[in-house]
Amino acid sequence: MEDVIVLYPSPGRGHLISMVELGKLILRLYPSFSVTIIVLSTQNTNSAANAQYAASSTAQYMAAVNLPPISEVPSTPSPLESLFLFPRLNNPNLHQTLQTISQTSNLKAFIIDFFCDAAFEVAANLSIPTYYFFTSSASGLSIFLYRSTLHKTIDKSFKDLNNILLDIPGLPPTLASDMPQTALDRNSKVYEYSLNTGINMAKSNGLIVNTFDQLERKAIGAISDGLCVPDGPTPPIFCIGPLISGSNQDGDDDQHECLNWLNSQPSQSVVFLCFGSMGLFSAKQLREMAVGLENSGLRFLWVVRNPPPEKNKEPNLDELLPDGFLERTKERGFVETQWAPQVEILSHGSVGGFVTHCGWNSVLEAVCGGVPMVGWPLYAEQRMTRLVLVKELKVALTVNGSEDGLVSAAELEKRVRELMDSEAGKEVRERVSCMRDDAVAAVKEGGSSRVALAKLAEVWMATTSIL
Ligand code: UDP
Repeated sequence: MEDVIVLYPSPGRGHLISMVELGKLILRLYPSFSVTIIVLSTQNTNSAANAQYAASSTAQYMAAVNLPPISEVPSTPSPLESLFLFPRLNNPNLHQTLQTISQTSNLKAFIIDFFCDAAFEVAANLSIPTYYFFTSSASGLSIFLYRSTLHKTIDKSFKDLNNILLDIPGLPPTLASDMPQTALDRNSKVYEYSLNTGINMAKSNGLIVNTFDQLERKAIGAISDGLCVPDGPTPPIFCIGPLISGSNQDGDDDQHECLNWLNSQPSQSVVFLCFGSMGLFSAKQLREMAVGLENSGLRFLWVVRNPPPEKNKEPNLDELLPDGFLERTKERGFVETQWAPQVEILSHGSVGGFVTHCGWNSVLEAVCGGVPMVGWPLYAEQRMTRLVLVKELKVALTVNGSEDGLVSAAELEKRVRELMDSEAGKEVRERVSCMRDDAVAAVKEGGSSRVALAKLAEVWMATTSIL
């Protein structure tokens, strides 16, 4: 019987990409294992596209099992809640799938995304060794693990404690309002789900994280020293990153037009603006951004999406952006409305700065490209990530929004100029350039991330299936 590693990603693009890369890496370095990926289907509008991405990017490497769509959803959950809920509703199907796999192979490890926490219970019942693959930072993982302690010691919702600074092992002092979205409201379902996830993580066989030792020394140290789970043992942590997607994620081999455009720009001259797979702005905010970019006089490559609610519609740039903006900036600006080849863009020599929503994949891609950042967090744990990037790692500057969250044209102009042409910008550029070298070293033979994966593979090889 073959030795199988089973992956269970969350269907969000940022989560899926790094889990797929983890599977590919295991197969490349440890070909005695085969990898099976279990693909969840949700009611999310991006779900079909993501399932297709999973199918096309995994077909040549690993077996895929598609769980059937759920027809009966009990209430109308928020998008965030549904990320926890869909795996929960799929537990019976998952149980069946894991049983089938176990009957025909040695199931050595079941690796789950944190949103798929409900699967922990299923795997525990089947006595399958379970690992969490944390697709965000070790700093974010510290918070998950420490949540239970915070829950016991603070009896208010973090959203109501705006100016209170929290002391979390491995993190700089963190404003309660900068905590991940899932942790903000004590009375919400996602609060409960994510609190339980932290508790289960501490009971798992191991924590695999898409980061590397040199990048997040403090947070990794705090976790492995057991500071985040003060009342019990902490499972081993394996930092195996950075795992980033190797090439154009839509499998399109043609050179993207924006890459051709970048080829004709001077070295490190272009500011790239992109806000992940879900980052959206109001029409008012887009206009402010356009004015800020125009007034900065800088070259830019800007990914623009339609404002909600028609977020999946192609944006009409002439209507959305200020009159004449495209014409006036055509010599130095490129506006992209499709899925941008971000990894290639961030490793292109003409890109000198990145305005990012601080999604963890985007951060790792910027680090690997040696591109300094301006952090403009929008959702999830991105406020906390920005704090770590700015205060701890010192690879990013920050934009400040007004009370209602709007970032003015003047503020954006000031920050992108600061990034591209100031002492502070120079400092973050130098820091990120060192981090890029550290990232390269981490994934070389003998580097910290390769050693961590080797340890993990050794554990898997020694594991005997119980079923
Ligand atoms: N991405 C891309 N092109 C786009 C938007 C996003 O290639 O136009 C990729 C980006 O390179 C990253 C992922 O989508 O790998 C987004 O993940 P991240 O963790 O940064 O943010 P999320 O979308 O999960 O908020």
